Amino acid sequence: MSVVTPMKYDEALAKYEPVLGIETHIELGTASKMFCGCATGFGAEPNTQVCPVCLGLPGALPVTNHAAIDGIIKIGLALNCRIVEWCRFARKNYFYPDMPKNFQISQYDEPLCVDGFLEVEVDGETYRVEIERVHMEEDTGKSLHVGGATGRIHGAVHSLVDYNRAGIPLVEIVTKPITATGEKAPLVARAYATELRELVRSLGVSDVRMEQGSMRCDVNVSLMPRGAAAWGTRTETKNVNSLRSVERSVRSEIERQAGVLSAGGTITQETRHFHEDTGTTTSGRSKEEAQDYRYFPEPDLVPMAPSREWVEELRATLPELPAARRRRVQAEWDLTDAELRDVVNAGALDCIEATIAAGADAGSARKWWLNELSRRATEQGVELADLPITPEQVARVQAMVVAGELNDKLARQVFEGVLAGEGGPDDVVAARGLKVVSDDGALAAIIDQVIADNAPVADKVRAGKTAAAGALVGAVMKATRGQADAGRARDLILQKLTTP
Ligand code: ZN
Ligand code: MN
Repeated sequence: MSVVTPMKYDEALAKYEPVLGIETHIELGTASKMFCGCATGFGAEPNTQVCPVCLGLPGALPVTNHAAIDGIIKIGLALNCRIVEWCRFARKNYFYPDMPKNFQISQYDEPLCVDGFLEVEVDGETYRVEIERVHMEEDTGKSLHVGGATGRIHGAVHSLVDYNRAGIPLVEIVTKPITATGEKAPLVARAYATELRELVRSLGVSDVRMEQGSMRCDVNVSLMPRGAAAWGTRTETKNVNSLRSVERSVRSEIERQAGVLSAGGTITQETRHFHEDTGTTTSGRSKEEAQDYRYFPEPDLVPMAPSREWVEELRATLPELPAARRRRVQAEWDLTDAELRDVVNAGALDCIEATIAAGADAGSARKWWLNELSRRATEQGVELADLPITPEQVARVQAMVVAGELNDKLARQVFEGVLAGEGGPDDVVAARGLKVVSDDGALAAIIDQVIADNAPVADKVRAGKTAAAGALVGAVMKATRGQADAGRARDLILQKLTTP
């Protein structure tokens, strides 16, 4: 097939309306696997967390993990789904080396959770993403292709397979078609993945780490000419592994499909792979239809029939969900929409809330985490929460600022010291000798020297140009390596130069 030039994004959106669908797989953080007692920790030696059940050896029988069902029901409830009273597992038959049984235990026409929704916000506008189903299944093993350039099977010399992941509880969340998003489609897709990740994280049922594969998105995209009645053929971009890639993959697929369609071509229903380096997708395999999987009810497992009491017990354990929490802190901290967005985008909500709990006021807590500490996190390429400083330590620094023992400039030096491993705030203050000089006697001597050194500036101040005093305050700060109380220094300078 000849390569068709992608259409420019704006042009593509003028001609076509995108329709999205997102399937998300989330590994639950249970201690053991879905149908056996094997451990689930990430990063263990290959093939050390396996047993006859998850290796699919003849005669081995699965038993359902109760904690995993708790987890999926919590997700279903948080997504406003109905939890059905009775449903079954199904065998999804296909051959792939990373799946030793040659079938995956999944759910087909009887999912556990149905008909939910998740509201997401893009540029101040709310989009309601309808959830078709949330079902329970097990993860596959992991193939490692050796010798190819990109880690893909093409060009590989040989492949290795690790079954540690085989049988880890996997929840699949499937949206209904997401329509009428227009040019915002890539942003809505990203906002959905972001909100879903936050939601599941708040439930404590998964670590939802996209880079480790415990949350993976498959993104379906199709285009229909504006004004058309029928949807176009969709492609499915598999295993998109970052929020940014979710957005980019939708955008590039819109551009590609628009290019094909407007050149008179047709879209093939297929899976595609997203490439981080180029920001584009390439063709994978042509997509199976449901009948290709020869689904049938799993004969080795009893049906799932969660009692209403069980469901209500779980509902009562749900924590404050992210959207409600955002509304609460916005009111409590008196934030504009834009300020709230900054806090959320910086991943600073938990840090700020804990800093306030440790005694700081909301404004200062937000200031330190969003400015000084965000900057350092970016420099070090880590998440804000992973910086080696605790909210209690930030609150302690702020308490010293409030007490007049530190100014902002010195506080930044304390943060630097704590992050460099020099100990807690009090240790850093003691070891570095950081202390605001506000003692009038000590300041007066420095001020006299500064006035003598800057006679022309001092004359201006004497002549009534009090704004020029700023330069003298700056000189005092420099002379004290930032330790002077700037306000007090200014008062003393003005007193000295303008009092007759
Ligand atoms: Zn096992
Ligand atoms: Mn699945």
